[in-house]
Amino acid sequence: MRWEELTSLEFKKAVKNPGVCILPMGIIERHGSHLPVGTDMINVIATCNRAAELEPAVVFPPFYFGQIYEAKHHPGTIMLQPELLIPLLLNVIDEIGRNGFKKIIIVNGHGGNHALIPFISQSMLSREREYTLYHYDYYNEPEFKPYMKEIADSKTFDGHGGEMETSHTMANEPSWVKMKYEGDVKRSQIRLGRWKKIPKETSSPIWWYAYAPEHYEGLQTRKATAEKGRKFQEWCAKKTATFIKAVKKDKIAPKLTKEFYKRCKSKN
Ligand SMILES: [Zn+2]
Repeated sequence: MRWEELTSLEFKKAVKNPGVCILPMGIIERHGSHLPVGTDMINVIATCNRAAELEPAVVFPPFYFGQIYEAKHHPGTIMLQPELLIPLLLNVIDEIGRNGFKKIIIVNGHGGNHALIPFISQSMLSREREYTLYHYDYYNEPEFKPYMKEIADSKTFDGHGGEMETSHTMANEPSWVKMKYEGDVKRSQIRLGRWKKIPKETSSPIWWYAYAPEHYEGLQTRKATAEKGRKFQEWCAKKTATFIKAVKKDKIAPKLTKEFYKRCKSKN
């Protein structure tokens, strides 16, 4: 069920049962020339809505802010400064907790968030809260790549804006996929090897820009179909539902967090 569809009375019941709130995190950024800038957001919300049908949970309304500094040169990107983004995200999570949810799950649908979300999660230990935060990323499932290989026609993973991401978007918002623009990005501008020239001994935030300055990795995008997208979404939704189920059962993390705070207060 979606947070925004509930009446206040229904909301009160939902806090008790199903008792878990999911915060889908997408982003607004370029995905080549043929996909909408809302691609990650649209797809993660649809996946979470489906997961919540399989394993009941309340899905938070669209929250489209996250880490996306590397795409700010492209029109349509929504980028918040870190000094606003982090408190905003923490405040939104606290607000879900203030409304009574004892278990909250961030579900990630955007690659650029993969460092931000674990940090937000770890920061929960900075002060005591009445809820427990969990985070989930279906892209991190060990079966993710083998499954992609199984349903995709591309021999190698056709990542950002490519075959599978285009398929996923076709499944959810077919009229928002404009295949007539596919091919606007010159193949010589896709997957540039120059990121490998950044010394291995170092690390740099410019690596993704160095690799994919057009925010597009699709070499075989034309193999995309809505059918593949539906299959993929169902797989992701089932995995997410399994995670929600495990969170509902979990008594250990809340218990140990309480114990941890007891020790913090007694200073030992
Ligand atoms: Zn994406």
